[in-house]
Amino acid sequence: MSRTILSLHAHPDDESSKGAGSVARLVSEGVRAVLVTATGGEAGDILNPVMDRPDVANNLASVREDELARAAKIIGYDTVVLLGYRDSGMPESTDNARPDAFCNQPFDAVLERTVEIVRAERPDVVLGYDAHEFYPHPDHLKVHELTMQVVDAAADAERFPNRGTPWQVKKLYAPIFTGKRMSMLHEAMLELTGESPFAGWMERIDQFPQPDRRTMRFDVTGFIDQGREALRAHRTQVDPDGFWFAVPTELVESVYPWEDFELLASTVGWDPDETNLFDGLD
Ligand SMILES: [Zn+2]
Repeated sequence: MSRTILSLHAHPDDESSKGAGSVARLVSEGVRAVLVTATGGEAGDILNPVMDRPDVANNLASVREDELARAAKIIGYDTVVLLGYRDSGMPESTDNARPDAFCNQPFDAVLERTVEIVRAERPDVVLGYDAHEFYPHPDHLKVHELTMQVVDAAADAERFPNRGTPWQVKKLYAPIFTGKRMSMLHEAMLELTGESPFAGWMERIDQFPQPDRRTMRFDVTGFIDQGREALRAHRTQVDPDGFWFAVPTELVESVYPWEDFELLASTVGWDPDETNLFDGLD
């Protein structure tokens, strides 16, 4: 039986920073993967000093599209769909006010396009965003809103009847960073080096998703480097000496070799002991 996962993301690089090791593992297990990215990331800062050059800055949208294609290939995505909206920038920025910004698009128009993609690709599992208390970027909030409506809309014959045959997604998850993961990596880094890149985050640890949610841990042993390599492919977005790579892969694998997910919806119930995003579907 062919199995498909579809990931919804806001910007180029989000697919590599959230759940990339899990998608890489699923692809290695024969799952077909489809990536939908809402914006071109045009409003993001250039965070890697060696890429902060006029030839890059003046062509940021096309540079980031190339970076995304490389990253998606590293993770193993079969298909990349760009919705082509403009990055909205952070709240209150001038990018935010542009009429072509993603955050200013009518919600139903975005939903309609995404429903059409879901009905065409027929994924069993969809990855989207949770409430995102932590990172209130307007594009992420909009992807969250989309996440919460697209599965029901795609299955409903009365919604967008000209946009394909209704399709029922079985499970909807959001990749999340749990407080437990953060604390364990923080402690391990303190022990190993005396300092931790997560010190700032630890001050807000009680705001991270807590265990009362329907969460699961997906083992990504052997796939962590693939996710990191994909993230490094976003050369303009990611400082290769930065936060994301501060914890050695071996340490992550020995302390917390999982990526965390929250189950947002399911047609097959929830098994608190599940270990795979596709559990319960075969
Ligand atoms: Zn983003």
